[in-house]
Amino acid sequence: MSLSWIQRFFVSIFPASWAKSMEEDSRRWMLRCDCGFEKSIWDMGGIRWKARGNSRNYMRCTACGKRSWHRMYRKADGV
Ligand SMILES: [Zn+2]
Repeated sequence: MSLSWIQRFFVSIFPASWAKSMEEDSRRWMLRCDCGFEKSIWDMGGIRWKARGNSRNYMRCTACGKRSWHRMYRKADGV
């Protein structure tokens, strides 16, 4: 999987430990469609770091192809 330009930008300016933390955090933030499909912010080429709370994004689902409100939530740390 390749990184988006914005991910490459932050990875290049941050110390390695920060870049790792940023990636891990972004991978925990998930966007979920009503159809059940979910994908992490990181996998979509985005970054969400040191953030709190849930939000909703209106976007097209890559699985079912419908435009709808996707719920953004943070997966539990249970690793
Ligand atoms: Zn969907």
